Amino acid sequence: MTVDTLCVQGGWQPKKGEPRQVPVYASTTFRYETSEQMADLFDLKASGYFYTRLANPTNDQVAKKIAALEGGVAAILTSSGQAASTFAVLNLCQAGDHVVSSAQIYGGTFNLFAVSLKKLGIDFTFVDPNASPKEIAKAFRPNTKCVFGETVANPSGMVLDIAKFAKAAHAFGVPLIVDNTFPTPVLCRPFEFGADIVTHATTKYMDGHSSQVGGCIVDSGNFDWSKYPERFAGLVAPDESYHGLSYVKAFGKQAYIVKATAHLMRDFGSIPSPFNAFLLNLGLESLHVRIRRHAESALTIAKWLKKQPKVAWVNFAGLPGDPGHRLVKKQFKGPSPCGVMTFGIKGGRAKSIKFMDALKVIGIVTHVADAWSCVLHPASHTHRQLTDAQLKAAGIPPDLIRFSVGLEDPQDLIADLKQALAKI
Ligand SMILES: *Cc1c(COP(=O)(O)O)cnc(C)c1O
Repeated sequence: MTVDTLCVQGGWQPKKGEPRQVPVYASTTFRYETSEQMADLFDLKASGYFYTRLANPTNDQVAKKIAALEGGVAAILTSSGQAASTFAVLNLCQAGDHVVSSAQIYGGTFNLFAVSLKKLGIDFTFVDPNASPKEIAKAFRPNTKCVFGETVANPSGMVLDIAKFAKAAHAFGVPLIVDNTFPTPVLCRPFEFGADIVTHATTKYMDGHSSQVGGCIVDSGNFDWSKYPERFAGLVAPDESYHGLSYVKAFGKQAYIVKATAHLMRDFGSIPSPFNAFLLNLGLESLHVRIRRHAESALTIAKWLKKQPKVAWVNFAGLPGDPGHRLVKKQFKGPSPCGVMTFGIKGGRAKSIKFMDALKVIGIVTHVADAWSCVLHPASHTHRQLTDAQLKAAGIPPDLIRFSVGLEDPQDLIADLKQALAKI
């Protein structure tokens, strides 16, 4: 089945007389008939539901759909994109371990890595995504456990060379984790270029309607943990907290996701509400139609913005002259990577703010990647504590406007941009 059909029919497969829409199992717990039946579940000898913190049928059906979309073997939903990134790393790393990460990643992920996980004893080396394979290889240490990158970085828009990072990771014997939030599997499937694990903030295009915060981790099943029994002892060696069970021996290609469930979800508990999973699934049913329209409208508007004399610059990898365009052509299905771009207004910070305030249809919100078009000015909002010099060092020009193109008529959006440009 193609990705388009899987968006609609992946996951939940109703049988005779069953509801066509995935039911919301709003239940913390599940009933059994004998004590032994329940004991087998606790031992992971039998599969079944017993407590929603570990697993819930609604969440599982939606995770199954996302696994199918990415071409993976298993997936788990989390309560946010941040929880997905946290668990993807913590499922492999503990205090004393090290991770190589692209420096161009979502600000929340950067802080999670550079501050919060560092406080827990996990070290990160950030590398320029444009670095040569030789330079990337230098970042590895004997205690490196994985590599992390973002297909299209939020907000810089930089496109990751997935195959280059996968090669570097595999040469060292560790997996590549890729945050695929912006393109979604409709436009790019990182497993096809060698990524091993994919994460998502389902909050963005997958939901697409600003209705829930959620995340997902998908495993390709391709990384052979048993080849490195010491490096990945958490997956290969017996887990004393699960009666001496080895995840790899007991679950094969499902090992990574079973461990994330049985170990991390059990102990840290970041499950989404089944109702949120239901909302996410409604979004997924039209993802293939929406994301293409987002990407197409963004390309139309980026081309228009580029021609406006008052616009200083436009950064969008869908534009043929953009440095990321080569990688879009190589890795993406279609000429445009997503619906998010950045641009600046001539005259710097003050003019960019004045321009944004003059917009009428395009709203100012702290969000991206949903049906309503919106803008954000990082220098005044997400990064407002930084001086202009610090902003420059962080790769965020003071005039940068992040623009998420929604599902409105692109001509109405251009008209709005035009009248706002006329006011400055
Ligand atoms: C928003 C976002 C996240 C974090 O997701 P939340 O659901 O807000 O926790 C992670 N990665 C990327 C690329 C994002 O855009």
